[in-house]
Amino acid sequence: MTENPFFTPSPLVYQLPPYAEIRQEHYLPAYERGMAEQLAEIAAITDSREAPTFENTLVALERSGELLRRVDAVFRNQSSSDTTDLLDEVEAKVSPLLAAHHDALHLDQRLFARIEALYEARADLGLDPESLRLLERRYTAFVRSGARLGGAEQERLRELNAELAALGTTFQQNVNAATRAAALVVDSAEELAGLSSGAIAAAAENARVLGHEGKYVLSLKSTSGQPELAQLSDRSVRERLLAASLARGGEANGPLAIRMAALRAERVALLGYPSHAAYVVADETAGTVEAVSGLLARLVEPAVANARREAAELAKVAAADGIDEIAAHDWAYYSEKVRQTSYQVDAAALRPYFELERVLKDGVFFAAGLAYGLTFTERPELTAHHPDARVFEVFEEDGASLGLFIGDFHARASKRGGAWMDELVGQCGLTGRRPVVLNNLNIPRPAPGEPALLGWDEVRTLFHEFGHALHGLFSDVTYPLFAGTAVPRDFVEFPSQVNEMWMVRPEVLANYARHHETGEPLPAGLVERMRAAEGFGQGFRTVEYLAATLLDWAWHTLPEGAEVADAEEFEARALAEAGIVVPAIPPRYRTPYFQHIFSSGYSAGYYAYIWSEVLDADTVQWFETNGKPVRDSGELFRRELLARGFSRDPLESFRAVVGRAPETGPLLARRGLA
Ligand SMILES: [Zn+2]
Repeated sequence: MTENPFFTPSPLVYQLPPYAEIRQEHYLPAYERGMAEQLAEIAAITDSREAPTFENTLVALERSGELLRRVDAVFRNQSSSDTTDLLDEVEAKVSPLLAAHHDALHLDQRLFARIEALYEARADLGLDPESLRLLERRYTAFVRSGARLGGAEQERLRELNAELAALGTTFQQNVNAATRAAALVVDSAEELAGLSSGAIAAAAENARVLGHEGKYVLSLKSTSGQPELAQLSDRSVRERLLAASLARGGEANGPLAIRMAALRAERVALLGYPSHAAYVVADETAGTVEAVSGLLARLVEPAVANARREAAELAKVAAADGIDEIAAHDWAYYSEKVRQTSYQVDAAALRPYFELERVLKDGVFFAAGLAYGLTFTERPELTAHHPDARVFEVFEEDGASLGLFIGDFHARASKRGGAWMDELVGQCGLTGRRPVVLNNLNIPRPAPGEPALLGWDEVRTLFHEFGHALHGLFSDVTYPLFAGTAVPRDFVEFPSQVNEMWMVRPEVLANYARHHETGEPLPAGLVERMRAAEGFGQGFRTVEYLAATLLDWAWHTLPEGAEVADAEEFEARALAEAGIVVPAIPPRYRTPYFQHIFSSGYSAGYYAYIWSEVLDADTVQWFETNGKPVRDSGELFRRELLARGFSRDPLESFRAVVGRAPETGPLLARRGLA
């Protein structure tokens, strides 16, 4: 048997994981050895007879766990991007082991004693600002993980962490299975009237792959709403599609959600917090439950009023089809009609101008050139995690190499829904390691020989995820704890949202939005009309998002011991109590498939998107009005904010760029809530 490739650092450029050598069987032994190695490294720290120093304790801790870091980064992407039954099994085995490992480290009394001694003496250690912050953040992490609790409480904490880790994995795997099972199968192409011929061909191909030869299958996206709802002209098919989406996973995951919320409340009660949300936000930029509740409450009423105005517009158009009342499955369809009639915008007519390759190279990469001077060279000889994934080397303006960017853009059955960024190799000043970052999207694969033509929202997603990639690529910190996107959750969406602005910057748009066959630019005025039409959809989008956020908030502000009998009932009551009362707009995610909050680390954190958007809208305004050349603004944003990661207070980084504290005005204007 060949040596496990995780056991030694990758010999490839940028320490790119050696994918050609990695087999599924390598993960579990690498995890096991990685955890054992780190525990041995910790023991070497705590066994030392020397008095604790910053170097022999904090820096040694930062340097520990290299093997675990290597395997975990690769596995987490692999199990999301191209999973198999075996990888699902490994994940189910590993997640409780990792939770126990985290506890072994953070509940190690001898290690904590050394950190605490240094923390008490921190003013006299002569540390530079990043090192001082490392000491403070590590100390806080240990306290928040239960280092100060008594033995019996720590024992219970370990049990709770193990159970929650296992339940989170089960929840995710249930979502994946339920989403696959709920795909809509239809018998005839007529039922798909309204979809493009390419989309119908793709549905036929999808059916063939899934064993329904001769039929048509619409696989579900992770959200409640499904993109086809905007086009399907057969109302009963729309109804079936949305019903399948909304009913996903309820039986298995409803009870799991109840259990997880209860365990989380119990866990934080041990640590002295009144709710899971209170515990979470204490370590975020928001700080308190009241700060978050306050922002959400301010948005609900104007958002609902906006949505009602939109519903009235939709009703006028739907009346012509004999529809008295707009149902949830009608909303997207008639929104599209309103866009076409009132704004002369046809979303389908835009697609030929948004060909994936052009959007990527002449849009996303081009914008990174304008703002930051970057250039990109594809490295087809480098192997990534899947044959679809493409590797690019990223260069600075002066030609110096910066890191690798991997793009894996297409949907497949083995990939989870949504879009996300991963860091396969994180930047580290201690070791000189440079970043390898990765974007995963779920753009439907075009029929063979056809180009991949993107919708407006898919173009936005490409720019968004690349904003996360830049955050990882530009990281320039000493300690890995602070690298790249390792910032609070209510801050991490901010740089990616800012990157969306390039999508419609005139000089960028003119460069990428060209007809894939004729090379013609977008018809004059189409983008302005599209943006005006987007303003029209803000009521829906804000309500859909706030509903999911308030649902997350309701589950995680529950005190210890609260009784919830039924998840569906709880959900309905929570939304009604929060004032989200637009029955035709379901939450963006319902409880049983809300993987962000039950399996992906966003519990009591879904508010982060709108919280970050305050900073985003404010920063976009700054870019547009500061009078500096765009390259200078980009450089400042990079040096003072993206490069800093979490090595200083993120709001301080914000002030260093914009020159003041964030303001909500630009967000309210953007969302039509002012
Ligand atoms: Zn994001």
